[in-house]
Amino acid sequence: MESQRIILHVDLNSFFATAEQQANPKLRGKPVGIIKATGRTCLIATSVEAKKLGIKTGMSVHEAKKNYAKIILVPADFDKYEDITFRFINICKTYSPVCEVFSLDECFIDITESERLFGGFLNIAFEIKERLRSEVGEWMSCSIGISHNRLLAKLGGSLVKYDGLIYIDKKSVFEVLDKCELTGVLGLGHGLGRHLGTLGIDNFPKLRNCPLPYLISNFGPFWGPHLYNLARGIDGSPVNSFHSLADAKSVGRTYTTHRNLYKKEEIERLIRNLCEEAAAKARRMKMAGRYVGIALRGAENHFWRHITLKHYLDDGRDLFDICLRLTETWRGEYVRFCGITLSMLTKKEYLPTPLLSSDLRREKLIDAMDKVNLVWGDYAVYPAQLLGTNIIRPEVNGYFGDKTFRLNFLRSSG
Ligand SMILES: [Mg+2]
Repeated sequence: MESQRIILHVDLNSFFATAEQQANPKLRGKPVGIIKATGRTCLIATSVEAKKLGIKTGMSVHEAKKNYAKIILVPADFDKYEDITFRFINICKTYSPVCEVFSLDECFIDITESERLFGGFLNIAFEIKERLRSEVGEWMSCSIGISHNRLLAKLGGSLVKYDGLIYIDKKSVFEVLDKCELTGVLGLGHGLGRHLGTLGIDNFPKLRNCPLPYLISNFGPFWGPHLYNLARGIDGSPVNSFHSLADAKSVGRTYTTHRNLYKKEEIERLIRNLCEEAAAKARRMKMAGRYVGIALRGAENHFWRHITLKHYLDDGRDLFDICLRLTETWRGEYVRFCGITLSMLTKKEYLPTPLLSSDLRREKLIDAMDKVNLVWGDYAVYPAQLLGTNIIRPEVNGYFGDKTFRLNFLRSSG
């Protein structure tokens, strides 16, 4: 039986706007919209007061002004936000070293081992709220979800709004799930949501009625079981501590483009290109990873999403698929920079060989491609998606971040 864990999901309320209100008391209690420093077209965040007037993140300034003409527009200041995040995480870390920074305004804390030292989980939750006010700023507030896994902690937190707190025990799991929207759940992008929609599955009870083989045949061997578990509030994924993430080996590639990329296909090809390189690096190290991260940057637009998967991958196409899902919420105008990370790497030999014949065939194909590329040079063969583009090749210096590794590899494979 799964041992009972206790996980907190802490989420700062309306973070960017609240941070501005914290810094400038004149903004407090007023509808505030945060805009990019340049290209002031849409709101990247809104204050609690603006939300009450129906002004949402992503709205154009024009639309927002129709709702409330006197909305105060403030340019984003990421240095300020990162400073607050740093202080916020430092508070959270004192309750357990197993603290995962999920985004600038969210973290997961696994307090299973440390809970008793601090007088129980409720005490920890109230202390975090209090210390946020006393140590970061009196205007700061957060919502906290507490449960036995990450999925439920995060979902719970999303149900309580401003300054909320919720504890979900095992008995109330279905009741809570059925109050949540299926879309917007951790790791489920719009694409998957649409696919579910076409099958008539638009809420948790309907998803729970789907047998596992049905889900696998429609969504494949990864998303099928994932959805099956999701419907039941089952999530065994660990909270990744600060330290373990930093220690974990990773491969990746960042690239700054020579011009702004506006077209979806261009951006996707760039992502695919970098995914192929990161995955090829992992394969040459005879490793596979299950932590995928992607960063996109346009003007002032910092976009960073990541996911910890339950299975390991080393195929550029799989990596690309995950990255596409992670970028579904990206609303930038154009891309100037892209970074891909594959980490939490483990040795391929530790992993089971694929069961499905289609997966085996795919692995053999990739293996053959790697062999050709080793002899004829990187990207002698490449996915058709990259046809007709200027392929970005691995940088000669810092290949793998470790040249001796490549030399050793060439020797051992000769
Ligand atoms: Mg938040």
